[in-house]
Amino acid sequence: MIDRPRTRPLGLLLLVVLVSSAACRKGRTGITSFPGAPVILVSIDTLRSDHLPDYGYGGVETPALSAFRKEAILFEKAYSHVPLTLPSHATIFTGTLPATNGIRDNLGYQMNAALPTLAEILKKGGYGTGGAVSTFVLNASSGIGRGFDLWEDQIDPTRPNEPLGLIQRSGAETEKLLAKWVESQPDDKPFFAFLHLYEPHTPYTPPEPYATRYRGREYDGEIAFADEVVGRFFDVLKKKGAWDRALVIFLSDHGEGLGEHGEDEHGIFLYRWALQVPLLVKLPKGERGGTSVTTPVQLSDLFPTIVQGVGIAGIPPPENTLSLLEVAAGGAAPARRIFAETLFPRIHFGWADLASLVEGPWHYIEAPKSELYDLAKDLGEKENLAAGTPQAFRSLRIEMEKRRAGFSAPGASPARSTPRTRRSSPRSATSRAGRAPATVPSPTRRTRSRSSTT
Ligand SMILES: [Zn+2]
Repeated sequence: MIDRPRTRPLGLLLLVVLVSSAACRKGRTGITSFPGAPVILVSIDTLRSDHLPDYGYGGVETPALSAFRKEAILFEKAYSHVPLTLPSHATIFTGTLPATNGIRDNLGYQMNAALPTLAEILKKGGYGTGGAVSTFVLNASSGIGRGFDLWEDQIDPTRPNEPLGLIQRSGAETEKLLAKWVESQPDDKPFFAFLHLYEPHTPYTPPEPYATRYRGREYDGEIAFADEVVGRFFDVLKKKGAWDRALVIFLSDHGEGLGEHGEDEHGIFLYRWALQVPLLVKLPKGERGGTSVTTPVQLSDLFPTIVQGVGIAGIPPPENTLSLLEVAAGGAAPARRIFAETLFPRIHFGWADLASLVEGPWHYIEAPKSELYDLAKDLGEKENLAAGTPQAFRSLRIEMEKRRAGFSAPGASPARSTPRTRRSSPRSATSRAGRAPATVPSPTRRTRSRSSTT
């Protein structure tokens, strides 16, 4: 199904009056909701799920996230829709794909103003809303902070012409700023707090003691430090008395190449390492804590999960999304094909953009030479089965053509760029996503450890 914009004005939406207690109740669907529960969303940027002990990795210690896992539901197969920071967070905040919410790259795009954001909906529902981010690319100029009472994004370059991905601040500073806001929230009012850490993103420079402890494995060292910061933030919530009654979501926006398939960072390719992300959800009182869900889910599912999770009525789930609480409760999950895209190769290098679909074990990647992998047998995506599996390949390719035919051209909607964003406005404003001319080079042939920057 094509993801289309919902243009219902927020002011007309019927919202229930929330109570400040986090008493749970059963909805008409039998799914529990927690009206007035504090909502905490923590995003550690660029964190591969297979570099977390919660997902079986033994190369790093993450005591805070390991303890959190015991209270949380873990989604084994959670996928990002786009391996870029701003576009991925836009899918989380609107429940829609990039072609619908308007954010196709880290700079030069504006969020579709007709779409209600999570923060706007929660604010209308009586919530205080605060967010603090650790990278320049999440600054408010794109509209990503819409609906937040506090959007703490004051991150300045440390030198002229600093690459975008390097304009960042320590997660420890970001956490302090958001903790101060959380502590200031009145006890009788619900709140939504969004914490974004950039630690595992390049450059991999963990502070001590992690620099020494993880010498030669600095990406893991950054994860260990990020875990310490997350633990500190969780302690603030516990001290405030908000932890037990809170809905706490932990995720990453995308993965990192670490050299696989020739990409060191992220943004160019859509292989599993770029798209499969950690996703853990703690319900109030740790209900279902320690359980795992194997059904594939997607980051846009967070939107209905949070809206329904706190009992806000009158907001239909965006097309093709599901509440994770329904999935975790064992509700029948319809067969879905999970879509991802990246326009980064086209915008920055003049190569073909890519799109992909995950369905069951199959991962189809549309490219000048399309690829098909069986994730049940080949997690590393080494063997392209496109030629040898015509039925699955054909079905996914037809679905992709249908979907992309409905998408608008990237950059065609008027992006009111600020002077800061205009410097990297997309070059592909008139090209149609998915219509890569035969003359456009394939990223697969061109990239060899090419660094993406955000
Ligand atoms: Zn990111």
